[in-house]
Amino acid sequence: MQLIVATRNAHKTREIQRILGPAFTVSDLSAHPEIPDIRETGKSFEENAMLKAVGASRHLPGLIVADDSGLEVDALGSAPGIFSARYAGENASDKQNIDRLLSELARIKAEETKRSARFRCVIALVRQGKLLGTFEGIVEGTIVDRARGLHGFGYDPIFVPRGFEETFAELPAEVKDTVSHRAKAIRRLTAKLAALKTAD
Ligand code: IMP
Repeated sequence: MQLIVATRNAHKTREIQRILGPAFTVSDLSAHPEIPDIRETGKSFEENAMLKAVGASRHLPGLIVADDSGLEVDALGSAPGIFSARYAGENASDKQNIDRLLSELARIKAEETKRSARFRCVIALVRQGKLLGTFEGIVEGTIVDRARGLHGFGYDPIFVPRGFEETFAELPAEVKDTVSHRAKAIRRLTAKLAALKTAD
């Protein structure tokens, strides 16, 4: 089955391909520079995922998925949330976003026990401009006080999933792919894709 991910974030595409496995051929918008970037003007992960998938579907045939995801830190009132990619400003690097998050936590002197957080991911599935469903996944965890590990992307070096002592960036990709917010959302997505295949 062929899927196009409405993103230019190669990390996301790679994770989605890895989680879906070889039965799926996953591509993204990097091969389509002519398609304009969609402005993420939604107020929730779900709205932004739908905007991105429907937007790409105007230019491309077939099954389109879009992943909108981010980190919610309880001590920061669920920030950065939908602003995770640009927490330290437009085009901020992962390191700049992590530095801002750690300095906000230091500023409010968040205690070790108040560093609870979760990654949330919503995937929207669209075909020919029509929304076929949205699928959510959440992984709970805590924020550590300094970046650790080299795998993954984004906030992985400061997030320890519940039940582990290592950050997502220290854990092997296969472990992240079993417990992550994206893995859980994709499990729900694949159930829908299987139903579509049977109906076709
Ligand atoms: P989006 O492209 O608007 O969905 O932004 C997602 C942002 O959330 C990314 O740029 C990362 O900063 C963060 N994020 C989402 N998923 C992950 C993950 O699996 N690990 C680390 N950071 C993530």
